[in-house]
Parts: sequence; C-alpha cells; structure tokens
Amino acid sequence: MRKKNFFAGPSVLPVEVLEEIRDQIVDYEGQGLSMIEASHRGGMFEDMYDECLLKFRKLLGVPDDYDVYFLGGGATLQFTMIPMNFLLPGTVADYAKTGSWSNKAASDASKIGKVNAFFDDKEGGYTTLPDPKSIKPSENSSYLYLCSNETIGGIEWQEFPDTGSVPLIADMSSDILSRPVDVAKFAMIYGGVQKNLGPAGATFIIMRHDMLERRNENLTAYMDYALHAKNKGLYNTPPVFSIWGVKLVLDWVEKNGGAEGMLKRAEEKSALIYSVIDSSSFFRSPVDKRYRSRMNIVFRLPTEELEKKFVAESTALGMLGLKGHRSVGGLRASLYNALPYEDVVALRDFMVEFERKNG
Ligand SMILES: *Cc1c(COP(=O)(O)O)cnc(C)c1O
Repeated sequence: MRKKNFFAGPSVLPVEVLEEIRDQIVDYEGQGLSMIEASHRGGMFEDMYDECLLKFRKLLGVPDDYDVYFLGGGATLQFTMIPMNFLLPGTVADYAKTGSWSNKAASDASKIGKVNAFFDDKEGGYTTLPDPKSIKPSENSSYLYLCSNETIGGIEWQEFPDTGSVPLIADMSSDILSRPVDVAKFAMIYGGVQKNLGPAGATFIIMRHDMLERRNENLTAYMDYALHAKNKGLYNTPPVFSIWGVKLVLDWVEKNGGAEGMLKRAEEKSALIYSVIDSSSFFRSPVDKRYRSRMNIVFRLPTEELEKKFVAESTALGMLGLKGHRSVGGLRASLYNALPYEDVVALRDFMVEFERKNG
C-alpha cells in the first residue's frame, strides 16, 4: 500500500509516472538502453528533452520570445545567479520578503548588490502579502522579485503586480502548473522541479529573451544565462533522470486537464482541509485568509503536545510529512498536483476525528 504523501518536497509523484519509469528504466522504448545511461548529446535524450520543453511551453502558454530550459543547482542557485546577472552597479533590486524563501533570495542578492525590501512582514510572522496594486518598483530598479508561493509559510500570491518596464521575476517552485499563469507579465519564472513537476535535480528557467541584453557580460560560464539560453540548458551535463521524470509528469498533467485541470484539483483538495480549519476553533490557520496557499496548508493546534500527537497518529495511519517546517513549527499539509483527492479526504476525516477525540 502506498503511503499518503504530504511532504513539501521532494514530494508525491503520479503513480502512473513511477510505473512508467519502472517499465522503461532498463530499456527505453525498445532502444536497448536506459534513458539514464544515454549520452545527453545523443538523439534519445535530445528527442525526449525537446518534447519536454515543448510540452512545458504549451501547458504554461509560454510566448515565443521566451527561452525555456532546465539547469542543475536547485532553485537556490538562482538566488545567486539572478542578482549576478541583473543587479548591476548603480541599480537596486526590489524584493518582497514574504517568508523563508524570498528572505533567502534577498539575503543572497544583498551580497551582490543593493536590495530594497519594499515589503517585509517579519513582525507579522510572514502571514500576509502586500496588495499587488500598491506595488511600485524603485526608480532605478533592475528587477522586482517575489516568491509566488511560500512553501514553508503557506502563503500564495493570487494576483501579481504590474511593474511596467521593470522586469518581474518570480520563484514558482511550489506552485508551478498548479494554476494557469500569464507568463507575459513576468521577465523570468523559475523553480526547482521537485514539488510539482518531477523528481529532484532540475531547475526550470523561463526567461524573456531580451533579458539577456541587460545582463552582466563578465560572468563565469555557468553563471551566464546567455550561455544556457544558447545551449537550451545543455552547456554541461543536465540532470537527465530528473528531466525524464518531468517529461512524464507533464504528459500526466496534459492528460488531466492541463493548468486549468490542476487548478480545479487544487481548489477542490484545499477546500476539503480549509473547510475543516474554518469550521473549528480547534484548528487554526495563521495565514491571512486572502492569501492562503492551495499547495501548502499550514495550521496549528491548541498546544504543541497536541501537534506532536497529531503527527504521530497520522504517521501511524500512513499519512506522511504533516509536521511543519522546523523553522516555524506547527503542521503543514502539502497538496501538490499529484496528490490524489482520496488522500486529502483521508486527511480531512482524520482531522475531524482527531478534533472529536482531543478537542
Ligand atoms: C524548495 C524551494 C526552494 C529551494 O529549492 P532547491 O531546489 O532545494 O534549491 C526555493 N524556493 C521555493 C519557493 C521552494 O519551495
């Protein structure tokens, strides 16, 4: 019996994808070779990779003037690459500090250039977001940066600011393809694939091509986006296993209604849990209701003892990963695209029963 996987990342994959990998791992489509032992300069990998990039573009509706490719190094490497490329002397970068991930990104950027944190909800414990309509980039801004879904705090932007001619850059690691997104609003969207798109290893990069004209041209090879754009991410050895997994997950997303289908799933699944939280004084969500995440639901119980008990009992029932991130405590249920509806029903029922016994 498969566990019910609520881990925040790496996270649940569609069982169909795991089965496909199992069936193909030794002999990929009868070619007498595994995808993970083939050269990344050979047709077998390249055909699969091209299909993967094409499908990703199609599912997200990426305009033609954007480059799309995958890199290694995780989303975390982008915290450095973005300011190295775009935060030039005499400019500032505007950052929305809305939780752990945007704070890390801003911290790395501040080692490279001048950072303006135009929003920082530290006092409030990172439980709310700025009104997108109120956001204006600095006069000499090189870009405005935000994290669309704070995986640890469970807070998600529902609408995005209009930054005019200032490039808008977003870390969408944990809500990519969980909803349609107007890519044209952004100069760059990136993220690790290990939450919603596949096995850990690859980082997706979606970047408007003209951004390359703004970049620092004096960077070492791997740090330079222009080199990666030119080589479609194949300048050096790509994380082939991870990319193959992404390709299979994208097939699955397509079969299940694309971005619209994923949004519907996310709305249905998150409503199951939020309705329990909202109709109870036992469960409590710390997050501003307007910005609660559909992907990572963060909640608290009346005491830490009860939270420990909740984790122990849910784990015993095969529901994994419900402990909140060590930096914030509490509980968290990650409901990524691939998590089956029935698993969320099981969690909902467990929550109701837990409150009945302990409330
Ligand atoms: C997981 C995560 C990261 C870090 O990703 P790595 O691939 O581990 O570097 C960054 N941002 C967000 C929003 C995340 O959820």
